[in-house]
Amino acid sequence: MISFEQAYDLVLDNLGDFGEVVVPLAKTNGRVLAEPIYADRDFPPFDRATKDGIAIAYGAVQRGKLELKIEGVAAAGSPEKVLVNPDTCIEIMTGAMLPKNTDTVVMYEHLTLKDGFATLEKPVKKGQNIHGRGSDEPEGTMVLQAGIRITAAEIGVLASVGKAMVKVKRNPSLCIVSTGDELVAVDAVPLPHQIRKSNSHTLRAALQDQGLSSTTVHIADDKEATESAIREVLQQYDIVLLSGGVSKGKYDYLPEVFETLGIEKVFHKVRQRPGKPFWFGKHEKSKTTVFAFPGNPGSTFANYHVYFLPWLFHSFGLISNNINVELNESIENTTDLTRFMRVNVAIFKGRLVAHLIEGNGSGDLTSLSKANGFIRLKPNQNYDKGAEVPFIATRKILE
Ligand code: AMP
Ligand code: MG
Repeated sequence: MISFEQAYDLVLDNLGDFGEVVVPLAKTNGRVLAEPIYADRDFPPFDRATKDGIAIAYGAVQRGKLELKIEGVAAAGSPEKVLVNPDTCIEIMTGAMLPKNTDTVVMYEHLTLKDGFATLEKPVKKGQNIHGRGSDEPEGTMVLQAGIRITAAEIGVLASVGKAMVKVKRNPSLCIVSTGDELVAVDAVPLPHQIRKSNSHTLRAALQDQGLSSTTVHIADDKEATESAIREVLQQYDIVLLSGGVSKGKYDYLPEVFETLGIEKVFHKVRQRPGKPFWFGKHEKSKTTVFAFPGNPGSTFANYHVYFLPWLFHSFGLISNNINVELNESIENTTDLTRFMRVNVAIFKGRLVAHLIEGNGSGDLTSLSKANGFIRLKPNQNYDKGAEVPFIATRKILE
């Protein structure tokens, strides 16, 4: 059986490539940009007033002119005005083009306006209150690099340079497959030997958080049904996330069905708890990546965050951030397994401190909602209070 480190490296050695698509700007939030973006003109495209007031030729101030006749108004959105007489001024609004022959803007707060004249009440600096043409980015500069995640800030830049359609990384198609005869639908009343399905709902929601939609399929514990269902999903999806049916049980058919269907096993089983019977592989023919998680909700949840999310991020060319947190109590890992322990991480005096959450094993679903992540402990290792350990977040620590 391989170690967590080996399994993690193998997962990242087998990244997916989903290609690129062109989508309307309104659909780009959260997507990965797949083209460099250049300034299509100077930013700002003209000398622009940053205050409401008057535009003047500074020479007037040098000649001692303090009272200037107002010759007109330059509003934001109006074409360039011209100052004809250098001893006069033009009223100007924020965002308006600086009139020709002017070089300085004086804000209303530093003026007195009376009978069509503006009087300068404060010292004036040549060139003040002007956002110079091209001073942010000259035309042709790369303003966004390919490969970054698009957020609200990038959407503003894309809009400014006129990108109505944007090339982004294509989102993979995903199928979530649950397995097990004991499972019934959420709206069913389970018989004493049955339970309601939860993993597919959890996984679908987790994928939604990544902006990904998915289809769900359920397979009974029957070999033929398993084989035909898996054969079908391989043809249709880039990624298949399965839960259950990969352990040593009599009805855990997935590993042999995967083999029958020619899905290449990268590994099966990792020295870890929870989530040990994790099966990971790839179907070369259909280019489908298969993550088969053991069915215990805690195992599925941990493996999704420990392996699938980093795989997804790296497949998109993004970096998944690894952070450490501080233990608020000493912990012993006396097993020869890598342990993922549920914790609640809180900020204490500016540091991230992990509080262990007592869980009742990997089948304990409710304790997952009290945690905001897992800490990772090495096999056979004791940790003192205050020790730093890797943290795998399962929700935002800061809202
Ligand atoms: P398995 O990995 O199929 O042996 O399942 C391990 C445990 O997880 C069993 O108790 C199952 O009933 C439970 N389980 C499997 N799949 C799901 C699911 N989709 N939702 C909730 N529990 C599940
Ligand atoms: Mg099962």
